[in-house]
Amino acid sequence: MSYDSNNIFAKILRGEIPCIKLYEDAHTLAFMDIMPQAEGHALVIPKEPAVTLFELSDAAAQACLATVRKIGNAQKKGLGAEGVVLMQLNGEGAGQTVPHFHIHVIPGSIADLRKPHATHMADPAHLKTVADKIVAALA
Ligand code: AMP
Repeated sequence: MSYDSNNIFAKILRGEIPCIKLYEDAHTLAFMDIMPQAEGHALVIPKEPAVTLFELSDAAAQACLATVRKIGNAQKKGLGAEGVVLMQLNGEGAGQTVPHFHIHVIPGSIADLRKPHATHMADPAHLKTVADKIVAALA
């Protein structure tokens, strides 16, 4: 699948549109999902351009998983999440809506994921409050 460098996550990586950032390193960025399926729903993306896991380099996949661990641990510590659900959609056929590889990191249980995928925009001020707790727990 060819990569469209005008997708929304590529624009976030270039700083052309804002995000509520949780963590960044040389290879990855983690930020709040603006249409969360549960409180604290975060996304981890590689800086490498790839649409799905099948085009992503091994090194970038490894870097993403390291960041997922950081974020998941911070969600457990900062939000008191007892569990963390990971979700990762590959291609439109799977329901992927943003064509830049990402891993959903969602605090809580699969049983709590009652909100539909990518539908309800959250209040940015509330998202920031939740993000602050995750960021504080990263320290
Ligand atoms: P997927 O359908 O797996 O590609 O998931 C894309 C996710 O990106 C959805 O959960 C959306 O809510 C989320 N999303 C879309 N636009 C933005 C944005 N500008 N900032 C943060 N999250 C976004």
